[in-house]
Amino acid sequence: MTWNQLTREERRQRLMKYGKYDHVLAMDDKYPKAEMFGPACASADWGPGWTKLVEPCLEVLVRHGCSVAQIKQKFCRLTVYWNGPAWTADARRVWSESGEEGPDPMDLFKEVDMVIRLMSHRSLFTCEKCGEQPSRENVGTDKSGTRLCDRCLVEERK
Ligand SMILES: [Zn+2]
Repeated sequence: MTWNQLTREERRQRLMKYGKYDHVLAMDDKYPKAEMFGPACASADWGPGWTKLVEPCLEVLVRHGCSVAQIKQKFCRLTVYWNGPAWTADARRVWSESGEEGPDPMDLFKEVDMVIRLMSHRSLFTCEKCGEQPSRENVGTDKSGTRLCDRCLVEERK
């Protein structure tokens, strides 16, 4: 069975078996409407140190009725892809087909985008393992591109 074929509960079960995703499961418990294990989410994967950056993203997404399409580390930084609520697609259609104007989805996109961009930027200076936020000089990356502070880098090499 591939990940895409699994139900929400099966996806959760699989992560529980790995044992190192308690922080991801805890966020799913707190923000079930973000649909991190729903059919439209490709994957939700980050180190425990970045949970404090992921949480504001989930909060703003849920508040606006959006859901997660993917959360991952890409080019050494936190990357969050998301889906807007159905009404945003409808608003565009109504505007283009009928010339009428409904509520403007741009306000939603601006706020969600701002929070996600800020957290993604902070991830460059935040250890993905322990959450330390040292200066840029003291954050390195391991072979897989994971952002780690000096202490965690040393641990990793032991
Ligand atoms: Zn660390």
